[in-house]
Amino acid sequence: MSTITINPAALPDARGHFGTFGGAFIPETLMTAFQELTAAYEQAKNDPEFQAELAALLKDYVGRPTPLYFAERWTERLGGAKIYLKREDLLHTGAHKINNALGQILLAKRLGKPRIIAETGAGQHGVATATVAARFGFECVIYMGEVDMQRQALNVARMRLLGAEVRGVTAGQRTLKEAVNEALRDWVTNVRTTHYILGSALGAHPFPMMVRDFHRIIGVEARRQILEREERLPDLLVACVGGGSNAIGLFHPFLEDEGVRMVGVEAGGHGIKRGEHAARFQGGKLGVLQGTKTWLLADADGQIELTHSVSAGLDYAAVGPEHAYYHEIGRTEYTYATDDEALDAFRDLSQIEGIIPALETAHALGYVKKVAPTMTKDQTIIVNLSGRGDKDVAQAARFLLGEEIKF
Ligand SMILES: *Cc1c(COP(=O)(O)O)cnc(C)c1O
Repeated sequence: MSTITINPAALPDARGHFGTFGGAFIPETLMTAFQELTAAYEQAKNDPEFQAELAALLKDYVGRPTPLYFAERWTERLGGAKIYLKREDLLHTGAHKINNALGQILLAKRLGKPRIIAETGAGQHGVATATVAARFGFECVIYMGEVDMQRQALNVARMRLLGAEVRGVTAGQRTLKEAVNEALRDWVTNVRTTHYILGSALGAHPFPMMVRDFHRIIGVEARRQILEREERLPDLLVACVGGGSNAIGLFHPFLEDEGVRMVGVEAGGHGIKRGEHAARFQGGKLGVLQGTKTWLLADADGQIELTHSVSAGLDYAAVGPEHAYYHEIGRTEYTYATDDEALDAFRDLSQIEGIIPALETAHALGYVKKVAPTMTKDQTIIVNLSGRGDKDVAQAARFLLGEEIKF
């Protein structure tokens, strides 16, 4: 365990740095928009009216608090630590993403910007954004790589039914990174009327901080719930890490609790070979991508490498800067699950607990399956069940049942 004293409340600094990570690498044309956003967020954070509106909607529209569920049969089967699931999969629209989308649309309202744009990978952030845009009557455009549009066709239809325009992105690898580039391009052009709802704890300051703050409620609730239930803190927290928003949301309120270990699980894809995975802490390096300095997958010339994961939501070359910082000081740890390990855990949770998880989440479960049996029966694990698997039914049916389903 780290002996460094950490003060999570003091991070990031005023310019968005988490140690040497983070910051704001942005084009001149967006400088004003970022300054406005930072100021509006600071005001909103300290405004009881904003917080009350957010809390009321989180409760009645989104469905918070989510349960902390004891996975009794899976625990018994694995024969080690008690496994608790933080049920973000039960939220409106099916994943944690809505916590952040809702917070940011309330900010857009304050900024007086009637048009919303967002990027999406697996489509969950796009659906969450299209949902809150509908709820508040905003125009909404979602950028999505064409590869992702194919593997997440159900979510594309959901966004369109919600009234959003989905724009396919054909550049490069046609996945999340290219979708972010297109969204940034749109923002530069339309910055006066448009707010960009970034979907993870990524990008330039203030996004990593703001997105984290909107997801912190996951850990705040989980901490209270486990203390009620077990009368002590958990031994281990586990969450999958794409950009890192669901993980930092769960971890953050526990960072000062020295006895609580935290493990983020990245996408191991086909294994740790160049271009076959998205595990930034396995062979990645320090660099700048899309506004932030962080750990990423790049070659010797600094070119961003190709990534692969069975789950579109984890398939991204950079990780949120706050994770890079806690990794560096040794407060959090990172491992990976391969596509096969994730699918295996997906099947377990479905058939042993009756809960079909998102493929992203299944990576966290893949690690739990390995680590729980090595722990004792009086120890506890909380795993963030970041989303449900409805969007992944076609993919999972192909891999696990050998069936082709068309939506
Ligand atoms: C988007 C998504 C993720 C990955 O994003 P993070 O920002 O790392 O949380 C994980 N799980 C689900 C269900 C998602 O939709």
